[in-house]
Amino acid sequence: MGACVFCLSTAALHDDQILLRGRTLYLCAPRGQLVEGFFAVAPYACLGALSRLPPESFDELEHAMTAVGSFYTGAYGCRSWLVYEQGRGGGGASFDPDAGFPFHAHLCALPLDVDLHTTLADRFTAVEVASLQDLPATVGEAPYLYIDGRDGGGRRRRAVYLPATPAMRAELERSRLKPMIAELTGLPERGTWRAYAGEAELASLIARFGQWRRSACFRDDDGRDPLGQRGDRA
Ligand SMILES: [Zn+2]
Repeated sequence: MGACVFCLSTAALHDDQILLRGRTLYLCAPRGQLVEGFFAVAPYACLGALSRLPPESFDELEHAMTAVGSFYTGAYGCRSWLVYEQGRGGGGASFDPDAGFPFHAHLCALPLDVDLHTTLADRFTAVEVASLQDLPATVGEAPYLYIDGRDGGGRRRRAVYLPATPAMRAELERSRLKPMIAELTGLPERGTWRAYAGEAELASLIARFGQWRRSACFRDDDGRDPLGQRGDRA
């Protein structure tokens, strides 16, 4: 099995790619910048899916995504973006059967206005959720896909997609959203980080995030980073 990309002890992610450090989660800029602005929020612990996070981590997770949203608005003028998780390890699977790497939960974000709801609702059972906090109770012991983005009607929605049959469960555990997003964006050749690492976009994102982070708009009312006490060491 390959080394886990999101376990910081493997040093697969370089220090400059870790943008914020919270108590239980960190925000990073991974390789595979389909477009500049691809982020992931991952727990330090190697958990298979965000549905398996301890309850106290969900606030931090929402805060990290709020920071990402205000970065998208402030730095890119982006008004509609996509947040998603491939919860392929939600049912207990611990590694990718095709690529052989461990599942380590991470919530992804891209400054792209694409509708994944329509395509996924054709294949899987959609359940609307109000917040990430609802994940554990909604998915139980199943693999899932979590989508927070606009739908075909232009409305922003959060929904979890679940398999209806054992065959669909196996399909969902092998599914990959990034190639689908790349296709819908008109950049099919950028569907995986192996095919397109986006090194130039990565360097630009790290620099731009640093700039934005130093600006006043990033601070909350107490002048702290949204990810809490360890933010100043990121
Ligand atoms: Zn890991």
